[in-house]
Amino acid sequence: MTDLKPDIAFKKEIEAISGASLSTCMQCGTCSVVCNVSPEDQPFPRKEMVYAGWGMRDRLIGNPDVWLCHQCGDCSSHCPRGVNPADVLAATRLQTYKRYATPRFMGRLLSNPKLLPLAILLPVLIIAGIIYLAGTLSIPAGPVNYSNFFPHAWLNSSFFLITVASYGIAAVGISRFWKDLHRFEFNNTVKRGFFASFWKVKNDILAHSRFSKCEKNRGRKVAHFLVFYGFALLLLVTLYAIYAAVTDLYPLALTNPFKILGNIASLMLFSGLGIMIWNRLAKMEGSERSSYADWLFLTAILLLTASGVVIEAARFLNWSAAYYLYFFHLVCVWFVIIYLPYTKFGHVIYRTVAMTYAMSADRK
Ligand code: SF4
Ligand code: SF4
Repeated sequence: MTDLKPDIAFKKEIEAISGASLSTCMQCGTCSVVCNVSPEDQPFPRKEMVYAGWGMRDRLIGNPDVWLCHQCGDCSSHCPRGVNPADVLAATRLQTYKRYATPRFMGRLLSNPKLLPLAILLPVLIIAGIIYLAGTLSIPAGPVNYSNFFPHAWLNSSFFLITVASYGIAAVGISRFWKDLHRFEFNNTVKRGFFASFWKVKNDILAHSRFSKCEKNRGRKVAHFLVFYGFALLLLVTLYAIYAAVTDLYPLALTNPFKILGNIASLMLFSGLGIMIWNRLAKMEGSERSSYADWLFLTAILLLTASGVVIEAARFLNWSAAYYLYFFHLVCVWFVIIYLPYTKFGHVIYRTVAMTYAMSADRK
């Protein structure tokens, strides 16, 4: 039996982020009944609403059910008291990034809007410092060639090392999360290993099958699908670009198949992000309340995609501002990729880990 430690400050934090008035929940259970992805055994989100109402931080943070929720908003639409359980679970997930962030200051840096200038300054200084060390910190003359500004060997090796370091350190926090998930046991007898569970879960993730169960906000699956596969395609194109740089195939012609794939990926991202942003601005039924973390995540990916398209045009058209735009693009890459474990983008890791744990415990 786990000790329950009511934490009123935590309750207030969840209320502040979600906008929910937790004391108005009458624990009717409607939210659990209408949730199409909730298991029959110990269903969510009613029990999580009880935990949140009592400020039971340890029953919420590291709770796998918080991550089985796919934020469809159906429960909030049916809640007779307008408590918005979907937003309460979303707020809990945001608190989770902060709780497991390693080192801790990274969690604070990326969850506090007052620290945004510092979060921007950090990559600006580090990237400028690396270019300085490479000896190319000046605007090159002649036709635009980004490699003359930031030599590809320096770019690829420095970003690779920083990303590995960032994820390696963050993995310490993720492993604490994995350990904490085991505090939640379900009445199932089947137990699978991590890899066998992950192998099963990946089908769910790739097919977005849980999103299909949304009733109120059906556009959510399309939007997430476009962003998910657009981003995956962009990663593939980036890997090819690194290979092209190493083998002297760079720069790529506009007709290069990978260039075309990259542009298709950008279109997918623009479309998916457009739907997401529209849903938030128009406050579509079933869409979640937008927090700073949501906007930071959406804005970073949008700016990354847009700046990628702009620097491509700047290179072909030889714009004088090309190198400044390229620098801006690299800062966006940093925000999305290197900061990933500490922002809302971290859900790709946390949700996968929690779904894997649920599968290992045969929680269907
Ligand atoms: S959140 Fe709403 S639907 Fe869920 S138990 Fe509370 S009052 Fe009922
Ligand atoms: S938001 Fe959707 S998936 Fe999440 S608890 Fe509510 S009904 Fe279930």
